Amino acid sequence: MRAFEYVVADSPGAARALAAEVDGARFYAGGTTLVDLMKGDVERPERVIDISRLPLASVDRRGDVVRIGALARNSDVAYDTTIAANFPAVAEALLSGASGQIRNAATVGGNLLQRTRCSYFRETRWRCNKREPGSGCDALDGFNRGHAILGTSDACIATYSGDFAVALAALSAHVVIENDAGERTVALDDFYLLPGDRPQRETALAHGELITAVELRVEPLHARSHYLKVRDRASYEFALVSVACAVEFDGPRIRRSRLALGGVATVPWRARDAEDALAGAAPGDDAFRRAADAALSGARTRSHNAYKVELAKRAIVRALSTVCGGAA
Ligand code: SF4
Repeated sequence: MRAFEYVVADSPGAARALAAEVDGARFYAGGTTLVDLMKGDVERPERVIDISRLPLASVDRRGDVVRIGALARNSDVAYDTTIAANFPAVAEALLSGASGQIRNAATVGGNLLQRTRCSYFRETRWRCNKREPGSGCDALDGFNRGHAILGTSDACIATYSGDFAVALAALSAHVVIENDAGERTVALDDFYLLPGDRPQRETALAHGELITAVELRVEPLHARSHYLKVRDRASYEFALVSVACAVEFDGPRIRRSRLALGGVATVPWRARDAEDALAGAAPGDDAFRRAADAALSGARTRSHNAYKVELAKRAIVRALSTVCGGAA
């Protein structure tokens, strides 16, 4: 590991000021992503700013808005009764991620900023446009079984591998960001950037900005939600495919729905075509399959990942069957 400067911030403003002074400075909280990448020489920050003692760890409800502090630990959020009752997909997504020990250390803000698991990104002898812009991408014609089939570009096909943000995408969450001008909120849908020809840019976060919270709105749609994760083994594994869905009924028919996919796209993938297909439909396998077909209609596969198309469709049907319960 390379030498770096370690500093402790005593306020959000101080943390941002310390970050603004050094290009490539990194915030450190749980360390479950950053430290691994520093050990592998993938991340090389000259300054690491410890923000773990900032007062940003609570889960608070004000009216219909629930605000999750950026330093809340994943396990604390997953077992929070307000979260479990009003946003079950969020609790399920968090509990499906990593291991118990890691969930106890990892924070909400860090979770949002986790990097891809693309093995070509994490091993410095391979060419990777995300790690080293303009160098090429060895995953394109390499072993790309885990790589994305939606939202890809000729520069990068890395999968967004997290769970939490996929559930947040389905539940229309907002990311709260502090900067010199005060506070701004960004819809989760707009927070992650498609790779395009600049895959090194992953989020709408500017250098020196600090995520302070995630906000979710309490409403019936979000209370009837579910997260399904399909993976190679039952725990401590990243998704091959995941589905976050939420459904609201109007009598026997679906009034509206939200659907997001993980493990198959370069960002948490909002499946709007599938949501449109479900609007007004009677719940059942026919409607769910039509939605699944719509969700995957733009898939672009590589040599080893074509299986994800059918796997994702079946996962969507199963997740919708679960969330619709006895109505289907
Ligand atoms: Fe790098 Fe993206 Fe290619 Fe993986 S898929 S090697 S992250 S450019």
